[in-house]
Amino acid sequence: RNRHRRIRYKSRRQRTEEVFKRSRRAATARQERKWPHGVIPYTISANFTGSQRAMFKQAMRHWEGQTCLTFIERTNEDNYIKFTYRPCGCCSYVGRKGTGPQAISIGKNCDKFGIVVHELGHVIGFWHEHTRPDRDRHIEIVYKNIQEGQGYNFEKMDSSEINSLGEAYDYQSIMHYARNTFSKGMFLDTIRPMANPETGVRPSIGQRTQLSEGDVRQAKKLYNCPTCGRTLQTTTGNITSPNWPAAYPAYSDCEWRISVTPGEKIVMDFTSLNVFRSRGCWYDYIEIRDGHWERSPLIGRYCGTSLPPQITSTDSRIWMKFRSTSNYNGNGFRLRVSYEAVCGGNIRKNSGQIQSPNYPDDYRPGKECIWSVVVDEGFQVGLSFQAFKVERHDTCAYDYLEVRDGPSADSELIGRFCGSDRPDDIEATGNTLWIKFVSDASVNKAGFAASFFKERDECADSNGGCQQQCVNTLGSFKCGCYPGYELSRDGVTCEAACGGYVTTSDGEITSPNWPREYPTNKQCIWQIVAPPQHKITIEFDKFELEGNEVCKYDYVAVRSGFTDDSIFHGKFCGTELPPVITSTNNEMSIKFNSDDTVAKRGFRIRFTSDRDECAVENGGCMHMCVNTVGSYTCNCRNGYVLHSNGHGCKEGKYIPTFASIKSGCEHSITSHMGEITSPNWPNKYPSRKDCTWHVSTTAGHMVKLVFNEFELESQPDCAYDHLEIYDGADATAAILGRYCGSKRPTPIVASTNHMFVKFFSDASVQKRGFSASHTTVCGGSLNASARTKDLFSHPQYGDTNYVSGRECDWIITARDGYGVELLFNDFEVEEETDCSYDFVEVFDGSTDSAVRFGRFFGLNLAPSTIFSSGDSILVRFHSDDTINKKGFQASYSSTAL
Ligand SMILES: [Zn+2]
Repeated sequence: RNRHRRIRYKSRRQRTEEVFKRSRRAATARQERKWPHGVIPYTISANFTGSQRAMFKQAMRHWEGQTCLTFIERTNEDNYIKFTYRPCGCCSYVGRKGTGPQAISIGKNCDKFGIVVHELGHVIGFWHEHTRPDRDRHIEIVYKNIQEGQGYNFEKMDSSEINSLGEAYDYQSIMHYARNTFSKGMFLDTIRPMANPETGVRPSIGQRTQLSEGDVRQAKKLYNCPTCGRTLQTTTGNITSPNWPAAYPAYSDCEWRISVTPGEKIVMDFTSLNVFRSRGCWYDYIEIRDGHWERSPLIGRYCGTSLPPQITSTDSRIWMKFRSTSNYNGNGFRLRVSYEAVCGGNIRKNSGQIQSPNYPDDYRPGKECIWSVVVDEGFQVGLSFQAFKVERHDTCAYDYLEVRDGPSADSELIGRFCGSDRPDDIEATGNTLWIKFVSDASVNKAGFAASFFKERDECADSNGGCQQQCVNTLGSFKCGCYPGYELSRDGVTCEAACGGYVTTSDGEITSPNWPREYPTNKQCIWQIVAPPQHKITIEFDKFELEGNEVCKYDYVAVRSGFTDDSIFHGKFCGTELPPVITSTNNEMSIKFNSDDTVAKRGFRIRFTSDRDECAVENGGCMHMCVNTVGSYTCNCRNGYVLHSNGHGCKEGKYIPTFASIKSGCEHSITSHMGEITSPNWPNKYPSRKDCTWHVSTTAGHMVKLVFNEFELESQPDCAYDHLEIYDGADATAAILGRYCGSKRPTPIVASTNHMFVKFFSDASVQKRGFSASHTTVCGGSLNASARTKDLFSHPQYGDTNYVSGRECDWIITARDGYGVELLFNDFEVEEETDCSYDFVEVFDGSTDSAVRFGRFFGLNLAPSTIFSSGDSILVRFHSDDTINKKGFQASYSSTAL
């Protein structure tokens, strides 16, 4: 490779990496990499701690104090450095990149003063000293000890990149590597300095304590710092013209920079002035500017002999220049300036920094600083702390920071702070904030750094756009709502809070915002609880929801109970009023859901809770008890008519089979067996169909349903087409199952002689439907109550003989403390002397291990009345596979024991 190509390669690497792993030493030879006027704006990433920030500032002040470089907090400068953390660890670009922000990465193990000073050396424009083109006369690189892949850090630089500005090789430079940097082992040298020919001693290298004299000289040369003047960082001092008190020389060109802690001001008093006077101080002059550089606002340009008035800076920096010309060489003019840092003062700015005196170094004892911050009228002052470390005391009696909400010491106290917990953000109620810092005679800490800014009360203007309440926060605000309302998703408007736990016996429930449109994306759940043995009835008197056959979007869902597996009464949407719904127990949940589009007016529900008179003793009804609001009525099975006392049932004509279609698709079936099918079976069922079957059979026989074929639209929750089966006379009974798809349900047996079947098809997707056979299963549990109930040997009793091969067990139980009375009214069972064929057995208990009252068969052989000794009896009916007879009819009731 030729030399030219090699240089180009390096340049490209620097541009793309921005990092100094690859950096090589001494000063940059490129003018465009220097920072104009020696001013380097900086920012510090928010993730550094207060003490890390303080250390960065100390490192910057270290450079400032010995050179004419200035680090200022970036305001709007295009090019600036950013203290941050990058994967490279400790690294920085050499010089000014000139394309906007550039990183100075301070990794976990390099947040030390000397290392930050070193990295800032790169920022200023220094390569590593050991990469100087002339380094081979001063050091030896021990390549075999260098870690794999790190050799490039030791490459010698070309003089087109590096210019040591005539400075001698500097072993003491803070930019020099140590003897074992990038070494394979701690004791293996990678750089070996040449021994001093006279003493034979090898110089030490790699210090990270402070800038060497050579570093300072070279930096001053690189930035053409005037040889006269310096940077002052102490709290008091004098500035004198060269040769003071003797005459100043011709062609003097001096610059001073006074930099005190942000929050402090500089006060300057001329104590002596004797500078050649010219019109406009054209020739010799002292120029003082209120800021960090030669373009800061001019405070004054002085010459002659009359002392200017006291000068006070606006901020913490002053820039000063003294110039003399040749014409008046040796005239003996002289000046002397003293200054003092004063803390506190009135600050009329919309943002800025306030720090304890001498921050980030320890504050001084016996200080009292009072700041009064004023931002634009109509705004508030916000105060945010970046660092806080003040002598701790329980009541902050010694050193403390006090903040008051207003312009003076009489304003309301916001807080008095000490210790090391950073105070929370502070917000004044107006545009003024009064801040006082006090240090006593002993124990000094780093102090505090805070920024203040103009904070707008967004709530003052049109309530922040909030519909109900507006809460202002630092830099922002948030909306709130009155009780009973909650913030909607837009964060601005409030909507009625909805849902809740309802224990009143009657009342009204409305959709949120009723009677206006309900909000979108809302879910409300009302849980209504009535006393035990009460049922809750709801009636919709207004209903208008986004309509969809399957109620996928907006809907109201009603259940008896609060869990997802409690009895489901329906899911409603559209504009058709849902039916009146009565809970099966004393709990009801009403869930309302709206999606993110199409809002309608919603609904109004009136609910009442009513005692279920049928819950106890069947309401005294002989057959069926139907609860109504505030009352109940008794009904009788087919073949019976209601007695004039309203409770009993008289035997009417027995109707063996009865099936009727009441209206539309409502079927009522009284039959011991048969078939039910979906509409149009075996063709596809129609859309939008709602069919029901109430299958009832003779008392003492349970309805059984066996599916022969089954094919409905499939959906995991059976939200579309479905079939529901209830364990009772209607849909208010317990649900036995909800089915859809093409899997044939297993046979289902109701617990009593009633079963309710409900078929639903929506607007789309029609299938064949179902075909099911209903039969009966004998036996089961029967409750004995005060009113007499019937028990038949077989469902077709009186019509046909009983069938062969039956084994039926009925357990008749009375409530606690009562016994069972059983009476056979009609009895005809196959007669056989040893009863080995057909018979009826009755046991004095719920199992056949109880005492047996007897085994009965033949004609009219059963005893007229049987009384249990406990609360139950077992009736067993056995038929073999030969001769069948008429069977039996018995009646039972509860009786006092
Ligand atoms: Zn470095």
